Amino acid sequence: MIYLKTREEIEIMRDSALLVSRTLGIIAKEVKPGVTPLFLDKLAEEFIRDNGGIPAFKGYPGNPPFPASLCISINDSVVHGIPTNKALNDGDIISVDCGVKKNGYYGDHAYTFPVGNVSAEVQKLLKVTKECLYLGIEQMHSGNRVGDISFAIQYHAEKHGYGVVRELVGHGLGKQLHEEPEVPNYGKRGNGPKLKEGMVLAIEPMINMGTKHIKQLNDGWTILTADGKPSAHFEHDVAIIDGKPDILSSFAYIEEALQLT
Ligand code: MG
Ligand code: MG
Repeated sequence: MIYLKTREEIEIMRDSALLVSRTLGIIAKEVKPGVTPLFLDKLAEEFIRDNGGIPAFKGYPGNPPFPASLCISINDSVVHGIPTNKALNDGDIISVDCGVKKNGYYGDHAYTFPVGNVSAEVQKLLKVTKECLYLGIEQMHSGNRVGDISFAIQYHAEKHGYGVVRELVGHGLGKQLHEEPEVPNYGKRGNGPKLKEGMVLAIEPMINMGTKHIKQLNDGWTILTADGKPSAHFEHDVAIIDGKPDILSSFAYIEEALQLT
């Protein structure tokens, strides 16, 4: 069942999404060689709780339950990485995925950061994955279908010779962290559920430099590329308002911290 949101609910969700955005802005200032993922996780948890939120990933059901507030996935880790005390190295990339619950509604978004100096080849992977996200969002109009989002993401990634992860997908968002519909990053135009006013989706391309195939580490969570090549992940929360996409989350805090603007 797909739950459509009222304008009031969407504004509450915008506040949740922006708490994630602000958290990622804090993290952006700290990402550098020598810093540990566990330190970043601690900063994020404090900031979320200080601002009236609850970290959504901590204790998320699994075997074992997810132990941290952030998923931090380094280099060939695609998503669901568990923060450790192993310091980041110059040239790494890290996907930081953050979820909060605030006022009963979830926010959930992600950004892949370069650590220090990253090779031109990997910088291109980051750029193209972010482009995939926005090309998917452009399709989020009333009357289109989920497959239009999926196709736009897959087409752009594969044009650059990249692999599109199949097993993990975007999703509806609301009073639950994962609601229907699923939003695959691959698919056919005109297929899937129809997009409607009040729909809120977390769109999240996971794009591999090499093969689309993945494997899971024996920690019960971390997803790795099967060929050991790097993977990137960007995620936004997007509502349909007046028939058009309205991005509830924002990379502005990150871009300001990284001086990209
Ligand atoms: Mg996420
Ligand atoms: Mg998500």
